Amino acid sequence: MRCNIWPFLYFLLYAFLVFVFNESILFYLTIWKCEWPCGEKGCDSKDLKVFMISDTHLLGERLGHWLDKLKREWQMKQSFRHAVSIHKPDVVFFLGDLLDEGKWSNSQKFSEYANQFKNMFGDVNRAGEKPEIIVLSGNHDLGFHDYINPEIVDSFRREFKRSLIDEVYIKNHRFVLITSMALEGDGCRLCHEAEMRLKELRNEKAPIVLQHYPLYRKSDGECEKLDYLHEIDEEEIYRERWDTISKESTEKLIDWLNPRAVFDGHSHKMCKKRWTSKSPQDSSSKDYDFYEYTVNSFSWRNGDKPALLMVVINEENILVNSCRLPSEFVQFVIYFISGAIACIFLILSWCNCNLWPLRPTRKNSLPWCNNTGIKNE
Ligand SMILES: [Zn+2]
Repeated sequence: MRCNIWPFLYFLLYAFLVFVFNESILFYLTIWKCEWPCGEKGCDSKDLKVFMISDTHLLGERLGHWLDKLKREWQMKQSFRHAVSIHKPDVVFFLGDLLDEGKWSNSQKFSEYANQFKNMFGDVNRAGEKPEIIVLSGNHDLGFHDYINPEIVDSFRREFKRSLIDEVYIKNHRFVLITSMALEGDGCRLCHEAEMRLKELRNEKAPIVLQHYPLYRKSDGECEKLDYLHEIDEEEIYRERWDTISKESTEKLIDWLNPRAVFDGHSHKMCKKRWTSKSPQDSSSKDYDFYEYTVNSFSWRNGDKPALLMVVINEENILVNSCRLPSEFVQFVIYFISGAIACIFLILSWCNCNLWPLRPTRKNSLPWCNNTGIKNE
């Protein structure tokens, strides 16, 4: 009996090409369409180009099923790799919740998780290499305020070179990086240390503030849309000190730092909110006028619309574009249509292939099959 294996080989090749397109090329094409917000004049070499990424939530051993972990890490790695190679940012800031289970780890486990993060996105210690990687902590890295483990705070400090409050200058732009969980305002040791440091940093050049929790807002009903895919959820009411920092800490931050802009994450939803002093005549507080941007989660585990923000900073402006990553729904549709095409192809080829044990004979052949090509030897 002679068997024609070509249909089977074609099928394998086809399946491989669909897989490569969906799991890599689709990421490239989607991210390639993103643009820096340079305006009509185009970007200047003096501009600072920044990626803002939040809530990567790299899965740990307690809650992460290995298949889920494999898929999410592959998606994020592909997205990050393509985004960096296409758009070449100067700096990438990760705005907390780098890990999902850092808060439940010990020193040794935290180092393992941290190495996993560095292998995927780059090491904070790689001096001179572009892009520079700068991270800050979130509640999933250290724990919520009441559950912070001092051992993990030390581990985070050691692995990522990050203190509770830090000041960083890049291309003469000032950034203040804040550990949100230390802004509880209850006078605890961490909160006291953070508050003292923030007081030292006030009254200097207006910084760009980066933290994990958003400034206090009642809900996302106060947000503007960042792009056409942005759906604003007005239903969810945020809890002070849990979903956002407290009203009191928000007022202190604005009063002490008078930021040029604030970037944060934590809610897994996008938001653009303008903060402006109610009345310039109000002498009780300083005038302020800036935008706060909440960055969507970078992981598909937290919704099917992950994104990063592309930010261009110069002395005059802070310009922001969102960059959406591929949708899992689109991937599913591509697999479904490709599968349907493959099924039609296989049914048609079945008629002429001795590979199949139940190949049609003249007796039981399918009505659309032509058995003249089948040979028995
Ligand atoms: Zn968080």
